[in-house]
Amino acid sequence: MKIQAITGMKDLLPEETPLWEKVEGVLRETVESYGYSEIRMPILEKTDLFVRSIGEVTDVVEKEMYSFEDVGGDKLSLRPEGTAGCVRACNEHGIIHNQERRLWYMGPMFRHEKPQKGRYREFHQFGIEVFGLKGPDIDAEILMLTNRIWQKFGISDHVKLELNSLGSSEERKQYRSKLVSFLEEHKDVLDEDSKRRMYTNPLRVLDSKNEAVQELLKDAPKLSDFFGEETLAHFNGLRKLLDEAGIHYEINDRLVRGLDYYNYTVFEWVTDLLGAQSTICGGGRYDGLVEQLGGQPSPAVGCAIGLERFMLVAEAVGQKESRGPVDVYFCSMGENARSRSFQIAEQLRTGIKGLRLMMNCGDGAFKKQFKKADKSGARYALVLGDDELEKGMIAVKDLRNDGSQQEVAIGDLPGFLSSALSLDQD
Ligand code: ATP
Ligand code: MG
Repeated sequence: MKIQAITGMKDLLPEETPLWEKVEGVLRETVESYGYSEIRMPILEKTDLFVRSIGEVTDVVEKEMYSFEDVGGDKLSLRPEGTAGCVRACNEHGIIHNQERRLWYMGPMFRHEKPQKGRYREFHQFGIEVFGLKGPDIDAEILMLTNRIWQKFGISDHVKLELNSLGSSEERKQYRSKLVSFLEEHKDVLDEDSKRRMYTNPLRVLDSKNEAVQELLKDAPKLSDFFGEETLAHFNGLRKLLDEAGIHYEINDRLVRGLDYYNYTVFEWVTDLLGAQSTICGGGRYDGLVEQLGGQPSPAVGCAIGLERFMLVAEAVGQKESRGPVDVYFCSMGENARSRSFQIAEQLRTGIKGLRLMMNCGDGAFKKQFKKADKSGARYALVLGDDELEKGMIAVKDLRNDGSQQEVAIGDLPGFLSSALSLDQD
């Protein structure tokens, strides 16, 4: 019996990695153009970190975490998201104490969910987190930055921004008791999940998928009726900045997000191309979390892009990356030519920036070597036999156009190849 990969965890094969690399490169360039720095956190953290930050009564913590006890008896979890670990790391190293920080990270996350298109048990997020800034300007910057990413991949027509404010914790507290009274009055309409959440986490009833519950909620009290001056100023400030930046959005007052730590701004970028798994990026403000995890209070805001979903959308609009792994394939025959070919190859790799050169390894007639050269996807084959070597020449065969072949002096090769491939010489 062959052992297979774990359900919901995907291998990325060599044919798929070029597009991933391209996407990762563009994401990195984009955040760097806004002055953000990379942070890398461990994939394993103490379970308690996620329970305390994400919230006990959330799907992620109740049902989705990969948790276990290690041999030392520590209770650990594979990270289901990046924010908690990022805040933990920043607190631990004191790097957001009285300081502004604009950070990004990228990597695998784990949630035990039902696998389907756009939903996996191992998936990847590109996340950004900003600390020390409390105004709506930084919320707007994050939305501009994500908007720029959609533009770069030509998917703007297939994503839209949904925006909401969750107010302050005080406002939510007042609202919660009004909402609970309302839900109690209409208990008969609630499904089991909503009934349970009504007391533990009533706001989460708002994004119930149950239609009867959604119908009922049309008459429920609105959180926005409890907003005070500060919340309104923040929300309106953000809306003004988005309007000025030409970023369209819809207010969705049912948008509460799946994690407990948010306040004020919350948002999701949703797409029409992925069916039910429509959110490709979600985020918001979490001003209380840093203190909640033991740090000095610091305002914070962030978001995460689900990379698998983003890739699906990018592919749906025709993004692909077909560049093969090789520019030049080196064929040689005869004892002297063979050992000389290794020296020449090393010199070319040193002399031409970014050159990707593959040596023929294993024996074989030139005909067999040419077949391998062709299969490698290389643009050119270099052909060196003992005859050429004696003349100080090497044959360069154009594998893509007409298959024509010309002889080039070995000393002229770096110049010839760099200009033919538009690469710089070192
Ligand atoms: P959903 O409502 O789709 O379950 P979520 O609210 O749980 O999403 P977040 O915790 O906000 O998701 O994570 C941010 C992003 O990470 C999501 O918008 C999505 O693109 C991606 N994501 C979340 N869970 C998964 C998953 N199981 N597989 C693939 N991508 C995911
Ligand atoms: Mg989820």
